[in-house]
Amino acid sequence: MTKQQIIDKARSEGRAVLTETESKEVLKQAGISIIDTKLATSKEEAISISRQFGFPVVLKVASADIVHKSDAGGVRLGLRTAKQVSRAYEDILKAVGQKHPQARIQGVSVQKMARPGVEVIVGMSKDAQFGPVLMFGLGGILVEVLKDVSFRIVPLARRDATEMVREIKGYPLLEGYRGQEAVDVSHLEELLIKVSDFAEQNPEVKELDLNPIFAYSDGAIAVDARVILEEAS
Ligand code: ADP
Ligand code: MG
Repeated sequence: MTKQQIIDKARSEGRAVLTETESKEVLKQAGISIIDTKLATSKEEAISISRQFGFPVVLKVASADIVHKSDAGGVRLGLRTAKQVSRAYEDILKAVGQKHPQARIQGVSVQKMARPGVEVIVGMSKDAQFGPVLMFGLGGILVEVLKDVSFRIVPLARRDATEMVREIKGYPLLEGYRGQEAVDVSHLEELLIKVSDFAEQNPEVKELDLNPIFAYSDGAIAVDARVILEEAS
């Protein structure tokens, strides 16, 4: 589906929130690197997509009504066989059905399991005065507990991206720490510019989150994404 078809579909269902698979598709079309992801609506389809991608894979609940998929029991990582995929598919629907009986479920997304990297996040939200603003930070507890993030107003110049990445307290972690690989920082800067361009060109997007992005010595890839649209006028 094209970006417009995805947006129209959400609107026709009365949703401002795109599911993870929809969000990823829209962002991928904007040239942002996203892990291969496809929606499955049956166990058999989940298995066939897994075979197509190659194991290991990840399964996640696909629902616009579920903000925190892990908390809902809706994420299964590192699945290595068709049998594990089949089991995970059932487990996810069961766990989510118990925790969120009202949630509308599109199906289950199947994605490639990304190799471990340094987890970073990029977000966009709109400020009443400044309009779209980008946020950058390190993933996990560094953002949640320490609020170690940087902000810039869209559109970002290259210099803004360069500063944003270096300004967080955790920057040394991106330069390599205790045997961990140093991250390709210029790739992260390019990613920030692409997200800024996307926000500028798509005013109908109210908010977006890439959380997390796995950063490597030779690039970066987003494994989770969430796009929220402005209310339809
Ligand atoms: P949510 O944020 O809704 O709980 P995520 O999609 O972010 O769910 O998944 C939770 C965690 O699982 C991520 O923070 C990441 O560490 C890991 N993860 C998710 N997708 C993948 C993937 N495709 N490959 C490897 N790890 C993943
Ligand atoms: Mg996430």
